[in-house]
Amino acid sequence: MTSPRDILKTTFGFDHFRGVQEQVVDRVMAGRHTLAVMPTGAGKSLCYQLPALARPGTALVISPLIALMHDQIRSAEAFGIRAASLTSADENRERTIDRLRAGELDLIYAAPERATTEGFRRLIDRVPLSLIAIDEAHCVSEWGHDFRPDYRLLRPLLDAFADVPRLALTATADARTRADILAQLGIAEDGLIISGFDRPNIRYHVQPRDGLGGQLKALLAAHPGPGIVYAPSRDGAEKIAEQVAGGGRKALPYHAGLEPQVRARNQAAFVASEEMVIAATVAFGMGIDKPDVRFVAHAGIPKSVEAYYQETGRAGRDGDPAEAWLFWSAEDFARARRRIETEVEPDRRPGERDRLNALAAFVETAGCRRAVLLRHFGEDPPESCGNCDNCLNPPQTVDATEIARKLLSA
Ligand code: ADP
Ligand code: MG
Repeated sequence: MTSPRDILKTTFGFDHFRGVQEQVVDRVMAGRHTLAVMPTGAGKSLCYQLPALARPGTALVISPLIALMHDQIRSAEAFGIRAASLTSADENRERTIDRLRAGELDLIYAAPERATTEGFRRLIDRVPLSLIAIDEAHCVSEWGHDFRPDYRLLRPLLDAFADVPRLALTATADARTRADILAQLGIAEDGLIISGFDRPNIRYHVQPRDGLGGQLKALLAAHPGPGIVYAPSRDGAEKIAEQVAGGGRKALPYHAGLEPQVRARNQAAFVASEEMVIAATVAFGMGIDKPDVRFVAHAGIPKSVEAYYQETGRAGRDGDPAEAWLFWSAEDFARARRRIETEVEPDRRPGERDRLNALAAFVETAGCRRAVLLRHFGEDPPESCGNCDNCLNPPQTVDATEIARKLLSA
């Protein structure tokens, strides 16, 4: 059998593991259940792809989105890895099943909805499994920012293959979410591997919204490279794309209201471009591999600190300087608070309130932004990073009372 290090070189063409990759791969190779918490761009896919090649059998990969699976399959195939998915969007299901039965697949991707069906179980019962990877594992937890109830139904499947190492992967999980993932997926506490969350090349800026058009204009003038502007709504995304394009910069919208072909075309144009701005809702970003995004701007507040970290984490994956800009208003917080009190189930409200308060703390801090982010993820950062607005230009006075007043009065 070829060793993981040989495979790293021969199949992937990489000389070194990055960060905790080696630790994660070694654990999975030893057959032990693991939860890997690694930032976006850290190379989580390799953590299951490599053991899938080095261990006998096929790896079952649970993934929440068809688009995400198809991206992963494309990139796996580019390394010569044999991968396929079983989803409603796949027309060659019979062929995939044949390949699976014949042991001709290294990776089989499925969404939790399908993986937990009886038909799937009968199929997989006859296939030797090398491991079970649970990608975007925060979806299993109500504390996470993307709860998917079907992830909760995976446990019987996992327990039916108790000897098969399970590897849960996520970029964003605070302490409570991490503990929940371990419990839900039956992974021992010592199976937790966390890598650093700091993205030192991203410079964080937070500003009250004060004529967004003008603020974006100034931002774009300083940044000729590609960037993402996150808008709170589809209409907002359309409007921003129009405004930016009207100012002479190439810009396209991206949101779930667009035809799938248009969405795919806009995404492909952005990935290929060295200057374009994509004005998008949060529907944009998961599984998109564009290393040279120079800035991510939020035209309104994100859903949570986790969501903010994940969305801004799409900037500067190439390691070159990049910027994150958040334009907020007290009204954003008031609206979010009203939504919690009127639309969220009562037993989930305390958690959501905590999440909103954590975001408010990030926005209104007079101290280091990075320190607030890293502490949120359980790290113990230095007081000052030297690469955020507050560290570069310490504020003279702060008026933290405005958000507090809005939160209380909503
Ligand atoms: P994540 O899922 O953690 O966001 P990916 O698995 O998509 O990250 O990997 C991000 C990029 O890093 C990919 O282009 C991948 O090929 C690259 N990569 C992963 N591991 C290594 C490594 N050890 N050395 C160099 N590049 C790597
Ligand atoms: Mg990934």
